[in-house]
Amino acid sequence: MIRALVLVTLLAALPASAKPPRLTLFITVDALGSDVLLRNRPRLQGGLGQLLNAGAFYPYARYGYAKCRTAPGHTTLSTGANPWRHGITDNRWVDRATAKPVNSFMDPAHPVLEVPLAPGQDASPANLQVETLADRLRVATQERGKAVAVSLKSRAAIALAGRLGQAWWFDDNVGKFVSGTWYTKEFPAWVKELNARKIPESYFGKKWELSRPRSEYVGEDDRPYEAESYGLGRTFPHPLDGGLPSPGLTFYRAFGVSPYSHELLVEAAKAALVGEGLGQDDVPDLLAVSISGTDLTFHEFGPYSWEMQDTLLRLDKALGDLIAAAERAAGGRGNLVIVLTADHGGAAAPEQWAAQGLPAQRVSPGALSQALTQELRKQFGDDVTATVEELDVYLSGKSLEGGKVDGAAVRRAAAAWLAKQPAVVTAVARDDLFSAPDVAGQLGPLRKGYFPERSGDVLYLLKPFVLLYADAEGTSHGTPYSYDSQVPVVFAGKGIKPGTYLTEMDPVDVASTLSALLEMGMPASAEGKPRAEVLTGK
Ligand SMILES: [Zn+2]
Repeated sequence: MIRALVLVTLLAALPASAKPPRLTLFITVDALGSDVLLRNRPRLQGGLGQLLNAGAFYPYARYGYAKCRTAPGHTTLSTGANPWRHGITDNRWVDRATAKPVNSFMDPAHPVLEVPLAPGQDASPANLQVETLADRLRVATQERGKAVAVSLKSRAAIALAGRLGQAWWFDDNVGKFVSGTWYTKEFPAWVKELNARKIPESYFGKKWELSRPRSEYVGEDDRPYEAESYGLGRTFPHPLDGGLPSPGLTFYRAFGVSPYSHELLVEAAKAALVGEGLGQDDVPDLLAVSISGTDLTFHEFGPYSWEMQDTLLRLDKALGDLIAAAERAAGGRGNLVIVLTADHGGAAAPEQWAAQGLPAQRVSPGALSQALTQELRKQFGDDVTATVEELDVYLSGKSLEGGKVDGAAVRRAAAAWLAKQPAVVTAVARDDLFSAPDVAGQLGPLRKGYFPERSGDVLYLLKPFVLLYADAEGTSHGTPYSYDSQVPVVFAGKGIKPGTYLTEMDPVDVASTLSALLEMGMPASAEGKPRAEVLTGK
């Protein structure tokens, strides 16, 4: 009798069963480095600002591998693993058979539907080596839970959707959302209807205007190192016609750079919520949205530009709209969990840093390839060629393939020459990557990004503030330095303990934390750990 009473009392004391959230909204903001977000934060009062205030905010998460680029960033977020496991080492790598670069998600066996594409543009997750959060959710729910990813970029959408979700991306050639035969045989009605609305076309011939008075923007609008692509010019207002009489490729690209592309992605996300019935029942669903316009603006104008400031102000508003739609779909805030983070940050234009007195410079990958090739030919003969692809150097040539010269000796000679260049901080042959002493902690990030079939023969790092970029204007990202590798992570909603967390955080923890919250086990190869400090357990 007493025992029964104790049991009843115990049961009554337990909280109602902590159901996992019905809907997970996974937002990545392409190129939103920690410093960009933090210096703009006081002006953000909309969806983004509220998320930072109400959520569990890690301002200083930091990727552990060197090549902080879009495809590895999104794949690391979705798998909880580093490139050494998931295999997506960069946006592209050099194919050993042809010595030509290939896109990370290229797959000629899975054509993109409804678009006549150039060879090399067809895409699928076939190159992905491990399980994603989307895959885990589909398997764990026995395919009752849905996972949909939308982005302007195929490499972002595919990385987030994995093998078993749905990936939709915007194609610049036709101005529509598309997918490939890996994911679908035919477009569902909601995608057809979304495309039929011709949202980008409604901006044709309009201008990207500042959303606030000019006095509210820091710095100058016009800087000589800003790029002038797609007819946008360098200053506000930016014309949005791509220099064309009617919508076509350069217009769709100009539209992609503009912050109106955030609104397009929010409309796509809303269409997916309704069209796929996401958040409608207790089986968890995942909606992943990768905002690309921020990155396109960053590359053209730089992280300190008026354009970057304005795109964040407009993103702040657009995210408010997206979060409200997700709440409605899930039947209230109590059924929703949100994560917002970024795939990488980005460097200032080196000319800007140099003008401020930092040892910054622009290095052309073509010039570096040529100089290294020349040096190797002096030492090893005329058929050795070096190709610099970001931080990887690929060596090719008949005498290397035929074994006439000692491959390791060529690789080590290339590393020794690179290490002596004034802009280079360290270089290592792949033979020595895991055995060389990592005195200054520089090899660690190169190791975590190394995948033997796809990485280079020699790996190297440039000094801080040195930008490896083929273009004479604009800027980029792709190093382990804090401006490229440090990103915000914020969790908010059901089961999350709000606060600002200044502790160390690696973005590999994002997928593991969400898996714990969704009570479904981690993606198979996850290295990340659930961040127990932000989980309420309710
Ligand atoms: Zn990116």
